Amino acid sequence: MQSISPEIIFRGNNAWEKAIPQISKLIKSPLILGRSIHTNNLRNKIQRDLKNQNLNVNSANLHFDCCHEDISRLKSIILENNHDSVIAAGGGKVLDSGKYLAECLNIPCITVPLSASTCAGWTALSNIYTKNGQFIKDVPLRSCPKVLVYDHKFIQTAPSRTLASGIADALAKWYESSITSSKIDDGLVQQAIQISRVLRDQLLIDGEKAFKHNFENNPSWRNTIEACGLTAGLVGGIGGEKCRTAAAHAIHNAITQIIPPNKFFHGEIVGVGLLLQLRLEEMKNNNKLADQSIKQLLKLMNRLNLPTTIAQLGINVFENQNLDKIAEFACRDQSEIHFLPFKISKQDVVEVIANFEQQKITIK
Ligand SMILES: [Zn+2]
Repeated sequence: MQSISPEIIFRGNNAWEKAIPQISKLIKSPLILGRSIHTNNLRNKIQRDLKNQNLNVNSANLHFDCCHEDISRLKSIILENNHDSVIAAGGGKVLDSGKYLAECLNIPCITVPLSASTCAGWTALSNIYTKNGQFIKDVPLRSCPKVLVYDHKFIQTAPSRTLASGIADALAKWYESSITSSKIDDGLVQQAIQISRVLRDQLLIDGEKAFKHNFENNPSWRNTIEACGLTAGLVGGIGGEKCRTAAAHAIHNAITQIIPPNKFFHGEIVGVGLLLQLRLEEMKNNNKLADQSIKQLLKLMNRLNLPTTIAQLGINVFENQNLDKIAEFACRDQSEIHFLPFKISKQDVVEVIANFEQQKITIK
């Protein structure tokens, strides 16, 4: 079984206004889920608009992350108040929590991404973390959200840093899926990989223009936010679990074990993981193109003010056995790093990260 996409997608300017009549038909008593105080106004608007349609609406916030503590507290709120659905309005952690809660309680989830930092508004997947933001596991869900509302006016209110993070995460799709899945003899998977290549090209062409000119009337901005929030999700939907993540996300997951919570976005950490994955490919798979890819990516990442080293994520890998801790977690048995088509040992990861962090990255 494969859930390729949300059942209904509203996109563009005023997508929310267009979605209201449909949502009012589908549900009567939603819980609106959020987290950041910066998006309070938008969630209040969503709540007001639905109350005007005579829906019985409540709201609740994540206290920490998409973690068991928050999930079980929110589950009780939904059950006690007989909510018939979840509207998750926020970034990746909020969207993942809303989808996971809805799956556990067998009620529909409506996702309303409030930034372009993630494709979590689309996918049938939730990442579970500890309350301190340490990655625990990915949970595949039975289906994608019932409705996805990708309102450009909402997304425009997000800081440009969220867009840069979404670009880094979406770029990883090509570099991870092409190396793990290119030998899979399944037409849909191959086509998903091709879409991720087109997605990467779009971001290389439009990403910087979108980051610098965050306007709805800028076609580069529209293309880029839709690439990060929609197309990246479509790649996951069509490719399914065979269109896999690899070292970039494995290294992200490892870094979350030691990084202070909520200081950096998912995509910012994945971007660093992506550069390290390419170094691993160069070293272990003799991939001469990997170095070119690093140069190409570094140029864009510098222009988007994205971190390009673990040091820039606030971690000195040469202290507190951090290097060991990252390598250990990245190479644990169930890690995605082992989807790479060549063997990776803990020592390889230590070596690549140590070299990488010692280099001064000067490409501008
Ligand atoms: Zn990701």
